[in-house]
Amino acid sequence: MKNFLRSELDILKSYSPGKPISDVKRELGLKEVIKLASNESPYPPFPEAIEAIWSARNEAYRYPDSGCVELKNKLASFLDVLESNLMIGNGSNELLRLLAQVCLNPGDEVIMANPSFIVYPTVTKIMNGVCREIPLKNHKHDLVKILDAVNDKTKIVFICNPNNPTGTIVTKTEVEDFLRNVPDGVMVVFDEAYFEYVDNKNYPNGLDYFSEDKQIVVLRTFSKIYGLAGCRIGYGIASRSIVSAVNKIREPFNVNHLAQVAAMASLGCKNQVKERKKLNLEQKFYLYKAFDEMGLDYVKSEANFILVDVKKDSREVFDKLLYKGIIIRTGNIFGLDYEDYIRVTIGTPEENKKFIKALREVLSSR
Ligand code: PMP
Repeated sequence: MKNFLRSELDILKSYSPGKPISDVKRELGLKEVIKLASNESPYPPFPEAIEAIWSARNEAYRYPDSGCVELKNKLASFLDVLESNLMIGNGSNELLRLLAQVCLNPGDEVIMANPSFIVYPTVTKIMNGVCREIPLKNHKHDLVKILDAVNDKTKIVFICNPNNPTGTIVTKTEVEDFLRNVPDGVMVVFDEAYFEYVDNKNYPNGLDYFSEDKQIVVLRTFSKIYGLAGCRIGYGIASRSIVSAVNKIREPFNVNHLAQVAAMASLGCKNQVKERKKLNLEQKFYLYKAFDEMGLDYVKSEANFILVDVKKDSREVFDKLLYKGIIIRTGNIFGLDYEDYIRVTIGTPEENKKFIKALREVLSSR
């Protein structure tokens, strides 16, 4: 029988998300399970967002506002950008795919770091694009090598800042040197999904480099510090021509109504965002200290997750932690260099304490 599926799909694997809590409870008969696997916020949406969702529940029989007009209006003043430079997506994931769809012709090249966010290769390959993956240097993007890799075929450079899975950042100076030299006609995408967590004065805000005449795109999300991962809503800032191209091909109602109202309400919660950032930092240092005590190396992170060298096959550690009701990510999915690493999302103080206790037990057992 003739295969009617596109041959490009043969080289793709489906996205494998962090194991869901419900699966682990069911499979292992556990009552309590802690998920530190998907870099979500360990805290629920802000009360204002929950209230907004509750108030909007009876409107769910109508299609949502296709243009996200009210949200764009609020975001524009929140970010000090024009509404016409905003695009809203069903998670920033959707925007990554749409960007690839509006830019890439078969054979066009896309440059990304390796390891970095695993969705970049997928969105490239479905467009028949070619991925040029540049190894991290000391767990960080090597912007010099990335620049060296740019050629006539390069269409997009993805800069994940902070990088998932390492939590490392590229600095202002590195970004400015890079942007000074990158040729026109190359779209530079700053994926800033973890922007709100960063506490480093050398961290560049991608928006500072954005202008109408440059192909610079900044992506952010409500999935992380705002705690709305389950609502699916993210946004991007791009030139009007990119935004209008994306508008041509996105689904008519790509962002659901409850997500829109929750996002709008969340934008008003600046102090609560600060509080969550502080809690994340405190807990990051709690985990660093515990890893130091255990003699484990880790990559210093600017985000809400940490990559830790557990000095043995991470799949074994994953399985043993799972039996104790703790879900983390194994490093093997990030390449050979990371097989002995686990990636753990920073949880609540209570979750982190339980994770450390379990990790100590797992690592001391044979
Ligand atoms: N970019 C990065 C770097 C991420 O880690 C994630 C989520 N894991 C996303 C984008 C997508 O987030 P969302 O679609 O939930 O906005």
